[in-house]
Amino acid sequence: MATFPSVSKVVVVGGGIFGVSSAVHLARLGIETVLVNDGPLAKGASGRSLAWLNSARRRSAEYHRLRMIGIDRYRTLSARYPDADWLRFDGGLTWDADDASNEIADVFAHEKALGYDAQHLSAAAIASATPGIAASAVTHQGAIFNPGEGWVDLPRLIEILIAEFVERGGQLVTDAGSAAVTVVNGRATGVTTTSGISFAADAVLLATGGDVPRMVADSGQYIADGTPIALLVRTKQVSLPLRAVLNTPRVAIRPTPDGALALDSAWSEEEVVVNSDGTYGVKDSTVQGLLDEASKVLDGHPKLELESYGVGPKPIPGDGEPVFGQLKDIEGYYVAFSHSGATLGLIAGELLAGEIASGTENPLLANFRPSRFSVSTQPVA
Ligand SMILES: Cc1cc2nc3c(=O)[nH]c(=O)nc-3n(C[C@H](O)[C@H](O)[C@H](O)COP(=O)(O)OP(=O)(O)OC[C@H]3O[C@@H](n4cnc5c(N)ncnc54)[C@H](O)[C@@H]3O)c2cc1C
Repeated sequence: MATFPSVSKVVVVGGGIFGVSSAVHLARLGIETVLVNDGPLAKGASGRSLAWLNSARRRSAEYHRLRMIGIDRYRTLSARYPDADWLRFDGGLTWDADDASNEIADVFAHEKALGYDAQHLSAAAIASATPGIAASAVTHQGAIFNPGEGWVDLPRLIEILIAEFVERGGQLVTDAGSAAVTVVNGRATGVTTTSGISFAADAVLLATGGDVPRMVADSGQYIADGTPIALLVRTKQVSLPLRAVLNTPRVAIRPTPDGALALDSAWSEEEVVVNSDGTYGVKDSTVQGLLDEASKVLDGHPKLELESYGVGPKPIPGDGEPVFGQLKDIEGYYVAFSHSGATLGLIAGELLAGEIASGTENPLLANFRPSRFSVSTQPVA
């Protein structure tokens, strides 16, 4: 039996991967959709993401399942674009520090138990699995190679999805200034921007990355926020055989479509200075430190040079799990707010569009509802 849309017009706020993916899925379902973004597309976290496609290590069973389905959607896309230089499934390699925190053996056992494709390799065995890694940098506990992992260049993906959105009749409004959701009598009725444009809608999806908790608070709603300020360093082009995404104790590395590297790490994130006027400061020593750490784990220790860096919020809910779906107290007001938005981007857009269009909840998102945060769990100011 065919299902009929329960809404006819939707406004999506946010031109990152969640907003764009949801908008194109809504357009595919025949819903009249407007996508509104304050500036150019992909200027938030999606424009400065490591974008490793994975479900490595430990997390809740429901979150693991959603990530695996997310990766599946990328595999389908990859089959449509087999020569894409912006979407690769060349595996991921990870190892831990040589100290009490090393959990490689336990993680390997856990991943095998889940059927997550994993190989536990000694330093000497890595070269035959994946090229370009300095064996001397790998700790004696060994590394895990996950052949099914990959990476995506989110700005390129967003370009492709937005072209389809517009082709299907979707309305794209960029550089619109900051948008706010209009709520009347407990219902979302549309969006108004600081540039003075208003859009009426039957439903609104808020996908404004790290701004989601603050924006829902304007409507009296609470979503716990754990968003840090993150740094992504891009190197100049460098000719290297590296293909896998690397997650090592001091640096994460992924290749880019143009033959450069993207780098990040937890320690470099902590060194970002947040100024009182809301701007960010990045020290030269932090950038150089990341370049040096990357060189140490690459075969031949190549000299890496800075091309550019991106700094800003990395959206992370307070409990670390995704937040997808309709706000409990405001009909027609949906949110998308999560870390791992590269891995989840396609599936989250598909499921949210389905929920908005049909008015029916998808059980895959049952554990990730915004209603799990209630005003009673809100920290006292
Ligand atoms: C350094 C770093 C590393 C990461 N590594 C990985 C990884 O390895 N794997 C993985 O899966 N994920 C990773 N992520 C996470 C992933 O990139 C994000 O989860 C994802 O990009 C979030 O997309 P989004 O659409 O929610 O937000 P964003 O990309 O931030 O987009 C939000 C958009 O909303 C717009 N906006 C904000 N407020 C308003 C407003 N009021 N009105 C109108 N527009 C507004 C912004 O301009 C922006 O364009 C990483 C992120 C970072 C920063």
